[in-house]
Amino acid sequence: MQHWTDKNPRNFTKSERSHVTLLTSGLPLHILHLVKQVVAMAGLKFEIMPEPNNDSLQIGREFGNRGQCNPTYFTVGNLVKHLMYLRDELHVPTEKIISDYAFVTAGGCGPCRMGMYSTEYRKALRDSGFTGFRVLLFSRSGDVQDVLMDGLKLTNKDIIRFFMAIMVGDILNTINIRRRPFEITPGSVDTIVKAAREEIDTAHWIKGLFKARKILKTIKLKKEKRPIVHIMGEFWAKTTDGEGNYHLFRFIEKEGGVVSNETVTDWLLHQIWRARWSAARTKKSKFITSTELQLKVLELMIAGIFKTMCFILGEKNKLSDHGSLAQAAGEHFDLHVDGGEDHMEVAHHIHIAKHKLADLIISVKPFTCLSSSGVSDGVQSKISELYPQVEFIAVETNGDSATNFYSRIQMAMQKVIAPSLQ
Ligand code: SF4
Repeated sequence: MQHWTDKNPRNFTKSERSHVTLLTSGLPLHILHLVKQVVAMAGLKFEIMPEPNNDSLQIGREFGNRGQCNPTYFTVGNLVKHLMYLRDELHVPTEKIISDYAFVTAGGCGPCRMGMYSTEYRKALRDSGFTGFRVLLFSRSGDVQDVLMDGLKLTNKDIIRFFMAIMVGDILNTINIRRRPFEITPGSVDTIVKAAREEIDTAHWIKGLFKARKILKTIKLKKEKRPIVHIMGEFWAKTTDGEGNYHLFRFIEKEGGVVSNETVTDWLLHQIWRARWSAARTKKSKFITSTELQLKVLELMIAGIFKTMCFILGEKNKLSDHGSLAQAAGEHFDLHVDGGEDHMEVAHHIHIAKHKLADLIISVKPFTCLSSSGVSDGVQSKISELYPQVEFIAVETNGDSATNFYSRIQMAMQKVIAPSLQ
């Protein structure tokens, strides 16, 4: 009997940078476009794939294993769909696709199915005729996992620019989402925020941000009361508005609400907090270690830079204090449980309810998400009981039952629309 191993082609060396195009998707578009600029400056060829849609889901189901979670079907299917497009529509030979393209995504040994993502990509790629196509992984902490992938290694300057791109993308995305329901001319906020983003040159951040600020100031809004609907849940479903979450953000706007969104920067800050918390838990001395200190400085730097950029762009968004969030959640959720959003869903629910920051919380997650449906939602019923001042519903996405999904949200919205207008 032979032990099964998955051959994992993931070499991407510096010498390949000039001819290999890195493909990606799965983050809000404002972030991806800024990241594209940053990695181009670092000498990498980078292409943003079209957003995953229901065709991607069908292809994902055709070539994927049974029992995967929704983001896997959407994102795996989306990659296969794009490669098929290169092969069948643009007539790029399969060997050239395999040698001249690679896919970059987050991965890691998560306790949920995230740990199996790359294997799932490779299975679908094999079965659809792209054996050997490379799937390159960043771990959740942002490390490049393999020395064979030194082509992905960035200088410290590039890494700072990379984080700046995520932060500025987050702020623009938030401005877009929170202003859009109040726009006077339909479509104007999307157009203006896109124009502002295009003014930002990631080589000269400050100059670009002030130019963007000028453009953002041309947004014209009407005064209107709307219930605030906070969206939390599984990372992909809550941050990427598209067919994968039935265009949840736009649906809420159509139903009369305004979305309060969570950011990728906040998630990164949580990962840094977790690393600091783990370092404190496992240290041998009672004194603060240099690792803890460095991580704390990094947290403060990110929070400070984010606040400054928000100020320049005219947005009031604040990042979470992850120490207080952990303290609030810790009474109900074991902080050692790591995976997906960890204790963040429970923590945000408590924080929002205590400070009355929203009228309704929607926790959106892919069908059978282990971390969100299986763990967080088990605790959320208790939190709803303790903090009834905010409505809470958990909804699942599976790509098929849009009507059921929408009607549950409409029912919850009905409960909060009238009180919020008083
Ligand atoms: S967090 Fe949920 S949806 Fe995401 S990989 Fe884990 S189980 Fe799947």
